[in-house]
Formats: sequence, structure tokens, C-alpha cells
Amino acid sequence: MSGVWVVMEERDGRIGRISWEAVAAGQRLGAQLGLTVNAAVVGAQTETLAAEVAGRQALGKVVRVEHPLLAAYTADGFSLALQHFFEAEKPDFVVFPHTYQVRDYAPALAARLGQALIGDVTAIGADVAIGDGPVFTRQLMQGRLNGSYRHCGGGPCFLSVQAGAFRADAATAEASAAAVTVFSPTIEPAQIRTKPSERFRGAAQTVDLGSAQRIVSVGRGIKDAANLPLVQELATALGAELGASRPICDNGWLPMERQIGSSGQTVSPKLYLAVGISGAIQHLVGMKGSQCVVAINKDPGAPIFEAADYGIVGDLFEVVPALIEAVKAAMQ
Ligand code: FAD
Repeated sequence: MSGVWVVMEERDGRIGRISWEAVAAGQRLGAQLGLTVNAAVVGAQTETLAAEVAGRQALGKVVRVEHPLLAAYTADGFSLALQHFFEAEKPDFVVFPHTYQVRDYAPALAARLGQALIGDVTAIGADVAIGDGPVFTRQLMQGRLNGSYRHCGGGPCFLSVQAGAFRADAATAEASAAAVTVFSPTIEPAQIRTKPSERFRGAAQTVDLGSAQRIVSVGRGIKDAANLPLVQELATALGAELGASRPICDNGWLPMERQIGSSGQTVSPKLYLAVGISGAIQHLVGMKGSQCVVAINKDPGAPIFEAADYGIVGDLFEVVPALIEAVKAAMQ
């Protein structure tokens, strides 16, 4: 067995932040179990990506799983390539970022190796009972329940980690670069049953809260859907995505995909600005990974202030316009 392997995902020529979060999760497993943590990058030309991974993190080794048929992503290509690689490597754990791509191919990969994928993991249990292995937490029923999972039987344990559940900056960096090697899987063109077309690109306003660097989030303090443009204007001025607490989405004022919290998205932006949000636990669990939290609330006793780095006690209808003006002035 060869320790923990993290499968990094490329997006637009770079390694995405959620892959670094997966490394942090892998390092946590490695530290708990005394296992080496390694990384794999998959594609047709992965030299630059592998160098980025090897130079940035404390890893045992980095392997480029390369084949010309992996130039464009296909579920068949990626699952076959990684099947061959992991059959040779015999890992203890394989950690993926829980991206759309991973959701597409990783369950098939796990099944090819006779395993299940423990998907969308939000925590890894610290108490490791000897012989039983770590406990993984997944949310069930839209966050109403937490389920505990443990991998049983032989063979590798496959898991994917939820965006924002592990902090990318918690991953251990190391000055010396890990060794990089190449693995060439055997793939025949006939084994690729789908023809890749252009990679999906959402419209500019597509919601990607998981990787947003700045989020302005609005709560019931906004009182009416007609007032939302005020908060949207602040978000636009800051170059931020718009998020929301559950009541805003339940009311249909914003789409569900903008909901942050236990039954919504988990986010970890550099800046999280909470406007008229009380700070219920179900909301806090979705944004507690944010680096800097600013809260605007007229109630000085609102729990959101306990999670905030900066708090503004005041009426959002006075504070937000003043902030917009100040941000615009600062940008000039
Ligand atoms: P409120 O709690 O009503 O808070 C509004 C805040 O606005 C108050 O603090 C008030 O002081 C402030 N305010 C009012 N007027 C102004 C003003 N003019 N200026 C400034 N401040 C003002 N919630 C989520 O957000 N995400 C989830 O994923 C989620 N999942 C849930 C799952 C379950 C199973 C359950 C039971 C609940 C869940 N909730 C979730 C709901 C959660 O418990 C809270 O009800 C919700 O987060 C409250 O939203 P809020 O803060 O916008 O509203």
C-alpha cells in the first residue's frame, strides 16, 4: 500500500483552490495515520501543473498520469487511466476535490476497483480507533443530519471533500520540491465512448460561490425582494458574488444555488460580508471557513458578531449606501 493519494484537478491551465483543500484533507489523513501523502495530475501535458504541485506542498511524490487521449476530459479516459495507475500503486486512500468532474468519473473509478466513493466529505474524525480507520462525515437530507462513514474491507478508500470544508492554507507547504515521475496508462481510442466537446463555461453571472474570493451575503434584514438591488450594488462594487441566508432563497428572492449554510453551499472566501444576517448555526457552518468576516446588523447581540472579524452595528439601509460610496471612491 502506498499511502494517501490526492488527485488534483486542472481548470484553465491551473490547479483549482479546491484541489489544495483536498491536499489539506489528505495531509490530515496522512498525519493521523502516519502515511505519506502524494499527488497525481491527469492529462496529456501535465508538466507545468505537476511542477506547480510539487513545488508548493509537502508531498512524498507527484505523478503525472499522462496519455494523449487525456487531452480533453472524458469520464472513460480519466477513470481508465486512474484505474491502471491505482492498480499499480495500491493506495490506502484516494482523495478528490468534490467537483462536477469528480462526481462524473470518480464513482465509476471506485466501482472499477471494487470500492464505493465516500462523496462530499465535510470532516475527518480525529479519533482513529486502531484497525477501524478514520470516520468521515457527510451531510444528509440537505444538511439536517450528519452521517458518519467508515471504509470497511480491503482495498483503497475513495473519498471526495466538499469545497470549503478544509482550508487550502492549512495544507503544509514545503520548500523542497517532491519528486515528479510519469505514469503512462494503456488506453485505446475505442474505450472512450464519449466525444468531448467544448468545456462547459457558464455565463459570467454563473454562481460559483465555492471558489469566490469575495461574497456579499444578504439575510432577512433586507426585508423585501425589492431592496435586493442595494446589496447587489455593494457586491458589484466589491467584485463579489452575492450569497444569501436560507429565508431569502426559501422566499424565492434569490435562487437556491446562492444559499449558504448547512443545507446550502459551503464557502471560504477571503472576504465574507454578512448583511442583515443573524448568524444562526446553520448559516455559520457554511461560511466559517471565510478568512475575514464583516457583519452589518442593527442588533448588537446578533450571533453573527461572534463569528465576525469586523462588525458594524447599524441599519443596513444607511450603512450599505455609505459603504458603496466609499468603495467606489476608493476604486477611483
Ligand atoms: P433572521 O434570523 O431573521 O435575521 C435577520 C437579521 O437581520 C437579524 O439579526 C436582525 O437584527 C437583522 N436586521 C433586521 N433589520 C435590519 C436592518 N435594517 N439593518 C441591519 N440589520 C437588520 N439558514 C441558512 O442561512 N442557511 C442554511 O443552509 C440553513 N439550513 C437550515 C437547515 C435546517 C435543518 C434548519 C432547521 C434551518 C436552516 N437554516 C439555514 C435557517 C436558520 O436556522 C436561520 O433561520 C436563518 O439562517 C436565518 O436567516 P437570517 O439571518 O437571514 O434571518
